[in-house]
Parts: sequence; structure tokens; C-alpha cells
Amino acid sequence: MKALILDKPDGGDVSSEIRETAEDSLPDGDVTVAVEYSTVNYKDALVLAGQGGLVKTYPHVPGIDFAGTVETSSDERYAPGDRVILTGWRVGEIHWGGYAEKARVKADWLVPAPDGLDARAAMALGTAGFTAMLAIMALEEHGLTPDRGEVLVTGASGGVGSVATAILSRLGYHVAAVTGRPEQEEYLRSLGARSIVPRSELSEGGKPLESERWAGCVDAVGGTMLARVLSQMKHGGSVAAVGLAGGSKLETTVVPFLLRGVNLLGIDSVTAPYAKRVTAWDRLARDMPSELLEQTIRMATLEEVPQIGRDMLQNKTHGRVVVDLSE
Ligand code: NAP
Repeated sequence: MKALILDKPDGGDVSSEIRETAEDSLPDGDVTVAVEYSTVNYKDALVLAGQGGLVKTYPHVPGIDFAGTVETSSDERYAPGDRVILTGWRVGEIHWGGYAEKARVKADWLVPAPDGLDARAAMALGTAGFTAMLAIMALEEHGLTPDRGEVLVTGASGGVGSVATAILSRLGYHVAAVTGRPEQEEYLRSLGARSIVPRSELSEGGKPLESERWAGCVDAVGGTMLARVLSQMKHGGSVAAVGLAGGSKLETTVVPFLLRGVNLLGIDSVTAPYAKRVTAWDRLARDMPSELLEQTIRMATLEEVPQIGRDMLQNKTHGRVVVDLSE
């Protein structure tokens, strides 16, 4: 089988190579999947660059998500021919992942692909889309409805942001998209964003409470921007904290929580329980318009993945990158 393999000599830098590898080198697991598509997420970019201490042992096959067809299974929940999706569980970090023609994983980590979502579409969504849906579900559980007002999406032209923008727009929300790249405005409007907020408007700290602007927020950026957004939330509004593309440190005050009942909701896609995963994928199949999904994707080969990872860390990619394992 063909695989993208990372190596790291003692004290050296991480290097990558595409190699033919014996199938019996796959890690232990209950289910062997013929991988059809994987993707490049922000976390993949970190793994490919050897950043973040995410990978503990080398040689390593990255790829934090994949979709494909079951080849063999020793678990009664899956049989050969079943269409499956994997995200999370630190696959692609501490377990070999999706940048290979085959993957072997625990049955517990898989979900059946929902009807109406083929492997390519599933990975056009991938971890980023799945996480965007978890964020939207959390906001809804905390009372967000389209009549409550504008919903902010930060890091909007990235993977999480693009899918969140498209789904929220399709659900009838007025989406305000934050981007640091004015050239992405047309793309974001094509996904349904009704207004564009320049990143610079929210990248500096402000007062503990500012004018109420946002009924909800899907935040892929964290750091100073998250603190600023919290101070601009409407009474009872919620922020789903998804990412840290702009920083992991959060310096804020408790004032928005105490005086406006603002909710800060943590989103963890990695260990989300099975029932929630199935619900999220069903909703993605239903709520993500396929024509908009198509606009978010760029197809890539395994050979192109390392360069795409470098570009992603420099904020030079947008939308979703889908890796075709048959190419
Ligand atoms: P991505 O495609 O690289 O998107 C990140 C976006 O953030 C960029 O496109 C950019 O959007 C914006 N951005 C980048 N650097 C920034 C900076 N210094 N300041 C402000 N904005 C900046 O990444 P992704 O795959 O969507 O992931 C987004 C974040 O969510 C990452 O931190 C990732 O680790 C996290 N994540 C978390 C989970 C979870 O389970 N919680 C799951 C998936 C992803 P603009 O150019 O439009 O401004």
C-alpha cells in the first residue's frame, strides 16, 4: 500500500516521503479500511511540520480523518463493504492515520457514512466540517435561533469557518464573517456570508463590555479575538470556542458572563461520543448544501500534501483540501 510516512531522526527535523509499505505494518485494530479520501486540517499541518508535540513515535502516517470502505472487520458492527468515516481519537497523531491507501483502527472510532453523503463529500467536510456542526449544535442547544440576530464566524475562510458560514447561512442565519484576507470576500459571500468583518476590527483588546452585536459566534481563532468577541456578545448569547489559529491564551474578564449571561462553550471533536457523532454527520448530510460544499474544496494528491501543510501554517490556503488516495 502507498503511504505518506513521516520520519524524525534523533534531534533532527521531521521529513516526509511517499513509500510502498507492507499492509502488515499497519497498527493493531478491529477494522481495516480501504481509504478513499482524507483531508488536510490545521492539525495535520502541525503534524507534518513536527509542531505541537502531537506525534510521539516515528515512523508515522499522518492524516487525522478519512472516509472509505471496510475491507475486513473482527467487530460485529462493521462488515466488508460498509462505508465508514473516521475523525478524531488522535488518529493521525498517536495512531497511524488517513494518508495511506489503508488504515486499521478501532471499531469504536468509526461512524457509518450517512445516506446521501459519499466518501468525497464526507471528506470535503472532514474534521473541520464535523467540528463546525458540533459548534452549531452547541449554539442551538443554548437557544440560538435566526431571529436572535447576527452570528459571527471567525477565521471564516478556513476549513471550520467555511463550513460554519455555509451551514449557518443555509439555516437562515445572518452570518458576519471575520477574515484577515480581503481577497476572500467574494468567496465568503458565495457561501452565504451577509457581512464581512475585517480581522483588524477584532484583533486588538477592547473594553470589558462593548455594544451588543452578536447573538452567537463560531470561533476558530481564539486568543485576543475571542476575548474581544466575548465583550460584544448580546445578552444570553453563546460563543462556541473551536480553535486557536490566532492564539491559545485567553485574557478576558468575567464581566460579559456576569452582566450579560454570555456562554462560552467548549467544542471537542476528538472524543465526542458516538451518538453525538452520528447526529452531527446526519445533520451535515442534510444541512450542508452540496453546491456550496463543492465551492469550498480543492482536490489534492498525497504528493501535494506536505506543501499544502506548509501553506496552511502560513495562512495561504482557504476552504477545505480533499486528498484523493486513488490518485
Ligand atoms: P484553517 O483552515 O487553517 O483555518 C484557520 C483560519 O483562521 C484561517 O483560514 C484564517 O482565516 C484564520 N487565521 C489564521 N491565522 C490567524 C491569526 N493569526 N489571527 C486571526 N485569524 C487567523 O484551520 P481549520 O482546519 O479551519 O481549523 C481552525 C482551528 O480550529 C484550528 O486552530 C484547529 O486546530 C481548530 N480545530 C479544533 C477542533 C476541535 O475539536 N476543537 C477541530 C478542528 C479544528 P481568515 O484568513 O479568513 O482570517
